[in-house]
This record gives sequence, structure tokens and C-alpha cells, in this order.
Amino acid sequence: MQSNTDIEGGCFCGAVRYRAISAPIGSMVCHCQTCRQVSGAPAVPWVTFMKGHFAFVTGQPETLHSSQNVVRTFCSNCGTPLSYTSTAFPDEVDITTCTLDEPNAYPPTHHSWTSHRLSWTRIDDGLPRYIRSKQDGEEE
Ligand SMILES: [Zn+2]
Ligand SMILES: [Zn+2]
Repeated sequence: MQSNTDIEGGCFCGAVRYRAISAPIGSMVCHCQTCRQVSGAPAVPWVTFMKGHFAFVTGQPETLHSSQNVVRTFCSNCGTPLSYTSTAFPDEVDITTCTLDEPNAYPPTHHSWTSHRLSWTRIDDGLPRYIRSKQDGEEE
């Protein structure tokens, strides 16, 4: 079943595709060291979907336990980082914004983990900057 409200995306090579049936409930840029290392990028933008409204529809990504409570996935063929789930937020799945077919449609609303931010990255978008997570609440 597909409707025109569906949001789709996938990895670089096309082996893994996903679909969400409702809009993201969050959108942010993460500067944490783990996101940086697993992606090879200075920061990683994420959108958050309700887990029940999201599914991989083509292929299945490889999983990586990046910490005790966190599972990340990536395409085993092309390596694209795809998802993040944490037992702390069991109803949510974070998806790398840049794997959406339309990443411009869901711009970030804040930056997280700026305490890990690389010294040579610049943030000049005026968005709130959280030292750790937004849930933690402490701003830069
Ligand atoms: Zn791939
Ligand atoms: Zn992160």
C-alpha cells in the first residue's frame, strides 16, 4: 500500500529502501563522536519517525551495536549509514536525513552534542545548540 503522503529513501546503491507513512516527528544535526566516526562526516543530520510508521521495504541493512543501548544500521553493500534506534526511545527510529529522497523537505530544528563538535566546523544557522541531547536540555 502506497499513498502520496509516504516518505521514501534508501542507501546509495539502492539495495536497501525504506518507507514511512507519516512525517518525521523530529529533525536535527548530531555532532557526537560516534555519529562522526560511523559516517566519516563532521556531523550527521537525522530525522525521527515513529517506529510503527516506518519499515524497510527493499533489502535489509546490516546492524551494528554502537553502544549497549544503541543499534545502528547500514547497507552491507555500499556502507551508507541508515538508522539509529535506542532502547531509551523504543517507539522511535532515527533515519539519516541525507538518505531521504527529499532531504530538503525536512530541515533540522536544532543541533545536538555540540560538546563533541569539531573545532573547525561552523554553525551559523541560528538554530538552538544542545551541549548533549535535546532531551537533556542544556544549551550552549
Ligand atoms: Zn547500498
Ligand atoms: Zn550522534
